Amino acid sequence: MKKNNLPVRVGIVSLGCPKTLVDSEILLGKAQGAHFSIARDIEQSDVVLLNTCGFIKDAKQESIDALLKLIELKKKKKLLGIVVAGCLVQRYAEELKKEFSEVDALVGSGDYRAIAEVLKKVAAGQKLVSVHEAGYLAAADEARVALTPKHSRYLKISEGCDHECSFCVIPSLRGPYRSRRIADLVKEAKKLAEEGAKELVVIGQDITKFGWDYARKSLLPELLEALGAVREIRWIRLLYTYPSTLTDEMIQAVTRSKKICRYIDLPLQHISDKILKAMRRGSTKKQIGELIRKLRARIPEVVIRTSFIVGFPGETEEDFQELLSFIRDMKFERLGVFRYSREEGSAAATLPDQVPEKIKEDRYHRIMRLQQGIAREANRRFVGRELRVLLETQDSEDPFRWTGRSYMDAPEVDGAVLVRTEKSVATGKFYTVKITDVQDYDLVGKI
Ligand code: SF4
Repeated sequence: MKKNNLPVRVGIVSLGCPKTLVDSEILLGKAQGAHFSIARDIEQSDVVLLNTCGFIKDAKQESIDALLKLIELKKKKKLLGIVVAGCLVQRYAEELKKEFSEVDALVGSGDYRAIAEVLKKVAAGQKLVSVHEAGYLAAADEARVALTPKHSRYLKISEGCDHECSFCVIPSLRGPYRSRRIADLVKEAKKLAEEGAKELVVIGQDITKFGWDYARKSLLPELLEALGAVREIRWIRLLYTYPSTLTDEMIQAVTRSKKICRYIDLPLQHISDKILKAMRRGSTKKQIGELIRKLRARIPEVVIRTSFIVGFPGETEEDFQELLSFIRDMKFERLGVFRYSREEGSAAATLPDQVPEKIKEDRYHRIMRLQQGIAREANRRFVGRELRVLLETQDSEDPFRWTGRSYMDAPEVDGAVLVRTEKSVATGKFYTVKITDVQDYDLVGKI
């Protein structure tokens, strides 16, 4: 597609979760396949793809703010076209169309295969909406333009979700649970490895359900074994496991493998049985406690990341105290907290006893204060020990300072290892680092 005889340059703003980031990589792959050139930043773009998140208030606001910035650029004739895609569009296509006439195209989360045609029409000055049932499922032969460092790539193994958590609208944005096939995922893993991947971060709305939709049982252990056979891949990291469907076979798959990081991301959301029931999480406090103890007993040095929601309708100070003491007892190495977001279309939105924002804020900060101490203590036990670190970025001001990650750090969400070295080292390589100190959520060490 040409403008003044030059290929139209397509840029991207990718918001939300790693699952959306993989979609963004595929959207750029399709643009490239249709002979658009890929702009590395917005200023150099003719058309910008804004891939949005739409599942909670803060994420929606972030998407709208990003859109308003693009509209400003378009008004100043610095942009030819704006294409808005993803979950916010799947949820609010009509509202977005009415409110933002400057937007040239709206593309739902089920319409990614149409993106090349959409871009051609936008570059030709047309306006259009392409929003249908959420049903898209990626495949290995769909090119991806990397938006993460090439040594660490996300592998999205499924789409959609069948759980019915009462606070969540994702099933309505992404459709029912659909798994990809093991052979296709191994093919993609090999492609990513050829492009330089050393770490594969396995993602989905719930990876423990992988395979259920066509095999009537979880095929996650089989998939992990097959991915483990891809020679160049050194680390396999599991994100988004689900407490009630995390099985002994999956735990065994982790302990049997030399490549799967001893890192379990297990969003729990709450611990009071009353709230877990109202959230429709399908687990009880007793079951969750047993699962955490089992993980710690069977996976040596396991790091557990979890996330909780504060201020869910009906949450009393007593329920919150129960959550605080659970966090104090379980000492999660990694923990995130969300303030409950009342989402229209979710079952919980119509529940009585909605909690005031001020109380949500207060409970959010009380957990974060408690967790800061727990995280520091968890890190302190590594002082004096050696860890394998994937080196990632060199400090722009101090060439001897590098930042990397250990098995305990997922990209983007966790701490890092701050490394000082005068040796010649390189990005995307593994080094043995002697941990000498702790700095808040980060470890400090030398090669
Ligand atoms: S598991 Fe629950 S919270 Fe996660 S996407 Fe599915 S419905 Fe939403």
